[in-house]
Amino acid sequence: MLTILYRGPLASCDYSCGYCPFAKRRDDPGRLRADRAALERFTGWVAAQDEPISVLFTPWGEGMVRSWYRRAVVELSHLPHVGRVAIQTNLSFRPDHLADADLSRLALWATYHPSQVTHERFLGKCRTLASAGVRYSVGVVGLPEHLQAARRLRADLPGHVYLWVNASEGLVYTDASAAPWQEIDPLFHYSRDPHPNLGLPCRTGSSVITVDGDGTVRRCHFLPTTLGNLYDGSFRDALRPRLCPATRCDCHIGYVHLEPTGLYDVFAGGILERIPARLHGDRPG
Ligand code: SF4
Repeated sequence: MLTILYRGPLASCDYSCGYCPFAKRRDDPGRLRADRAALERFTGWVAAQDEPISVLFTPWGEGMVRSWYRRAVVELSHLPHVGRVAIQTNLSFRPDHLADADLSRLALWATYHPSQVTHERFLGKCRTLASAGVRYSVGVVGLPEHLQAARRLRADLPGHVYLWVNASEGLVYTDASAAPWQEIDPLFHYSRDPHPNLGLPCRTGSSVITVDGDGTVRRCHFLPTTLGNLYDGSFRDALRPRLCPATRCDCHIGYVHLEPTGLYDVFAGGILERIPARLHGDRPG
């Protein structure tokens, strides 16, 4: 199975979170056209392959407010060789856009931004997705000002839905300040501190790659070295087991592939959409 993280030129978002560099950024029409063309080229490439592939879309901005991302996830979900297609989203799109998807393959990595959307509105989206049978995880950035909102969301979410917490970049968590987040997300300890990854085996560059809008292939979003191009097939010769050359990896979309973390077991069946195989604490369903 080849796992691909795709990130095209899109860099605009309909939200304006204080902690995000893409807040309320606008893409001009030319950039939007380029993003759409790049995405359609990528989905066409995936459709033409005959090997098992899984895809996670990790746009800088919000993709699901664009028709071409909605179409891409629905179309890829119907391809028999696509094991999973997932996308990171703020859930501002209408859930009925997924009505035509094959829900056995599609999943969402949803992020709750309490300063941008009310509890009721976000929870309503979550409940609609749950009753439609859509697989998704929900998460929040572990900032002190998000704590009450995260607790409230955890209390009201369907019990089977995992709520993850991302450690906020630059924030140092003491045992005391981490404890309430650990209570909300029993897996928060994986996010709390950057992983000691230097020299350790990571599946990126072997069974996991990152692709940009031009088809440039890198092993992950965090390392600049190019492995080749997707569209001319030149990346394939570069795929092999590799060690991580970086001193830190602090983003789940990276360190989930770092072998010593054991996270492929923790998230078995839901690695791309961040859904653990088993919810710790046996929450009621
Ligand atoms: S551990 Fe992180 S930075 Fe290192 S190769 Fe893997 S994904 Fe990239």
